[in-house]
Amino acid sequence: MQSVDINKKIWLSSPHMGDMEQVYVKEAFDTNWVAPIGPNITAFEKAIAHSLEENVHVAALSSGTAALHLGLQLLGVKRGDLVICQSFTFSASANPIMYLGATPVFVDSEKDTWNLSPDLLNSAIADSIKNGKKPKAIIAVHLYGMPYKIKEVRAIADKFGIPILEDSAEALGSSYMEKRCGTFGDIGILSFNGNKIITTSGGGALVSKNPDYINKAVFLATQARDEAPHYQHSHVGYNYRMSNILAGIGRGQMLVLEDRVMARRRNYEIYRKELDDVTGIEFLSEPSGFYSNRWLSCVLTPSFTIREKIRLALLEENIESRPLWKPLHLQPVFENFPKFINGTSEDLFSRGLCLPSGSNLTQYDLNCVIEKIKTMF
Ligand SMILES: *Cc1c(COP(=O)(O)O)cnc(C)c1O
Repeated sequence: MQSVDINKKIWLSSPHMGDMEQVYVKEAFDTNWVAPIGPNITAFEKAIAHSLEENVHVAALSSGTAALHLGLQLLGVKRGDLVICQSFTFSASANPIMYLGATPVFVDSEKDTWNLSPDLLNSAIADSIKNGKKPKAIIAVHLYGMPYKIKEVRAIADKFGIPILEDSAEALGSSYMEKRCGTFGDIGILSFNGNKIITTSGGGALVSKNPDYINKAVFLATQARDEAPHYQHSHVGYNYRMSNILAGIGRGQMLVLEDRVMARRRNYEIYRKELDDVTGIEFLSEPSGFYSNRWLSCVLTPSFTIREKIRLALLEENIESRPLWKPLHLQPVFENFPKFINGTSEDLFSRGLCLPSGSNLTQYDLNCVIEKIKTMF
C-alpha cells in the first residue's frame, strides 16, 4: 500500500520535473557549455517553436518580465508614451511599462474569459486619442491560461493600428480556434518561472512571426554588441539571455508539456465535478473554440467573507490557496494612472480563489481540498 504523508503541504503550483531535464543539464556540464550560449538554448527554442506551430521564431530569455521589457522596446515604446494594459493580471505585465518611463492605461475585464474587455479597450484607445496621444501598444493577457477574446481584441488593435504584446506567461499549451497562445500578438511572451505550467526555475521567451524582432531581441539581450573584434556598442544593451544550463531543464520540460496540460485540466475537471453542485461555487467555462491549459483552477465563491473562510480553513490543513490577482488599478504603485473600469476584476478579486493546481497533485491531495471545502457549506 502506498503510504501517505498526512503532514505534507499541498502547494498551489509547484515544479514538476520529468525524466530528461538532468540529462540535458549534465550534457551542458560534460561539454562545458556553462554559459548563456550553447546547444541547449538552440534546442529549447526549437522545441518551443515546434510546439507553437505557427511558423514562429523564439528567443529564450532570463524571465518573462525581461521578455515584456524587450517586447515593449521592440514595439517602439519610449518615455512619455501610453501603453494599454489589462488591469486583471500579475504586476509583471505592467512593470516594464514603468521601466521605460511610459504611462500605463489600465483596462478592466469581461466576464466570459476574465480578460481584456473589448468594449473598454475601444473606449480607452478612443479617449487617449481624443486627448492627443495614441497608445503605442496593447498588453493583453491570457490569465490563468484562458485565452482572451483574440478576434475582438485584434479587430480593435487593427482598427487603430496599435500592436499587441501578448502576455502568454500563464498560457503555454492553451489555444484559440486550434492555434496556440503565444502566436497571436505582434510579439508574444512566455514565462518558465517555478510556478508556471513548465519551468526552468526562472526563465522566459519572446516569440514572434517576425524574425527581425527575434534577432533584435537576442542582440539587446546579449549586451547589444556591434560586429567588431573589440567590444563596440551603439545601443544600450541588457544581460537578459537564458543560461544554457537552464535551457537544459527547459528541453526536458518541453517533452512533458502536453502531459502537464492534461494533468492540470484534469485537476480542474475533478474540482468542477465535485464542487459544481455546492451552492454558490462557480467555475469559468471555456467559450466555444477556447482551450485553456487550466494553469490554475479558480473558483468564485458567493462572497469575500466565504472566500476568506475557505482560504483560512485550507491553510489550517497545510493547503495553499490564493485569492485571484488583485487588479493593478487597485495596487498602490499603479492606482494613480488612467483606468477604464467596469467592476468585473474587483468582483473577481473579492470572491475568487485559486485552488491547488500543480500537475504533480495526487487524487488524495485533490480529495483533501475538496472534502475541506465541502465541510464549509
Ligand atoms: C509570471 C508572469 C509574468 C512574469 O514572468 P517571469 O518569468 O516570472 O518574469 C508576466 N505576466 C504574467 C501574467 C505572469 O503570470
